[in-house]
Amino acid sequence: MKIAIVGAGIIGVTTAYELATDGHEVTVFERHGAAAEETSFANAGLVAPGYVTPWAAPGMPRKVLGHLLSRHAPVKLAPGLGAAELAWMWRWWRACKLETYLANRARMQRLAFYSRERLHRVTADLELEYDRSDGYMVLLRSEKDRELTRPGLQVLRDAGVTFREIGPDEARKVEPALNPDTAFAGAIHLPDDEVGNCRQFALLLKDEARRLGARFEFNTTVAGLTVTPRPSLSVVGKAAPRDFDAVVMCAGLASTALLRPLGLKLPLVAVHGYSVSAHIREPLNAPRSAVMDERYKVAISRLGLRVRVAGSAELGGSATAMRAASLQTLYKVLHDWFPGAATLSSGVQEWKGARPMMPDGPPLVGPSGLPGLWLNLGHGSSGWALACGSARALSDLVGGRTPDVDLEGLGVERLHR
Ligand SMILES: Cc1cc2nc3c(=O)[nH]c(=O)nc-3n(C[C@H](O)[C@H](O)[C@H](O)COP(=O)(O)OP(=O)(O)OC[C@H]3O[C@@H](n4cnc5c(N)ncnc54)[C@H](O)[C@@H]3O)c2cc1C
Repeated sequence: MKIAIVGAGIIGVTTAYELATDGHEVTVFERHGAAAEETSFANAGLVAPGYVTPWAAPGMPRKVLGHLLSRHAPVKLAPGLGAAELAWMWRWWRACKLETYLANRARMQRLAFYSRERLHRVTADLELEYDRSDGYMVLLRSEKDRELTRPGLQVLRDAGVTFREIGPDEARKVEPALNPDTAFAGAIHLPDDEVGNCRQFALLLKDEARRLGARFEFNTTVAGLTVTPRPSLSVVGKAAPRDFDAVVMCAGLASTALLRPLGLKLPLVAVHGYSVSAHIREPLNAPRSAVMDERYKVAISRLGLRVRVAGSAELGGSATAMRAASLQTLYKVLHDWFPGAATLSSGVQEWKGARPMMPDGPPLVGPSGLPGLWLNLGHGSSGWALACGSARALSDLVGGRTPDVDLEGLGVERLHR
């Protein structure tokens, strides 16, 4: 089939690769000059399937309200939320019910475990070399933090995740550079989880997709879509529409505006986050892999010769204006755990990204309900961890096969509930 993909973030690139592998004639349209220039650019890089869970969880509304006035709050509401964000919050609040949460968590984790398998398979088969490290550790500052993580540990057990609850001494063996002056209660160590550079992977996989015949049209903005008499899209600056047998929408947040004229209303909002990436000053002072400060929800990752600190979740607000307090929290957490790890005087990359978040958690992966139009979008805070599995499953559906992972609950039907 002749298939168009809109968007070359991690979701669009993995989808292009899988469809090209299946022998389709693929063209990817991307408004930037390269792949992974938006949300997939500098995320935390965590691939920890046991921790892929919906934001809509019991107790979350109280947590969000409780954090409203705190300076280093992991979750923030931007001032002056619009109608779309308020409608999103209503749906989100409704999805926080225990039963709904448990069902959505199971859906996301199923896809996340499948996705990690596919990531490993693709990486091994293609011998992809990108910055990555094995292992993930959640750091618990106090006994209270430890208590709060207890219910989550049952989730890991139920999912069959290998983990150890360890004390500070053991944790310092896993990450010997942890600041000796920072006291903490303990940690949860997950040896099978990992961290990897999502952007590097996307750039490498784009080349592999090209080798299989996929075309990438960069600096090309899709202006609109029609689906009858056949799927077709128009490109800014070009008069003639382009016809395809199928179109896959992988445009992240921008998908909402592209699909609205077709009558498809996506409840997607931007949940902004930040990262700081800096060169390692002294490898002995740097993390070996990834840690998460559970209280501040800030991840510190080793990505090759750089350290990346990422966190914060701001619902709505500006896509570009950097909130100084959020960045300060990242520097504070880095300093608390790995002082002296990074060169912060020059060459520091400060970045803000927008997670394309569905109110209930799982992404939309599958047919749109409109002829020839498919969706692979809304992966929220776990797009890297879910990308390879979502792409493989979508490609199977397009090819008329049953995917190896159950996609129940990931379709558009749930938009009408
Ligand atoms: C601070 C932060 C930390 C994160 N940490 C993690 C993590 O540890 N693990 C994890 O799994 N996930 C993480 N995420 C989430 C992850 O980054 C996203 O889920 C993922 O990048 C979404 O990918 P995407 O391809 O859907 O979107 P994008 O990367 O935004 O790609 C969409 C693409 O579509 C293009 N596009 C849009 N409109 C058009 C148009 N009209 N024409 C042509 N092109 C168009 C855009 O230019 C863009 O390149 C994090 C996110 C943030 C912000």
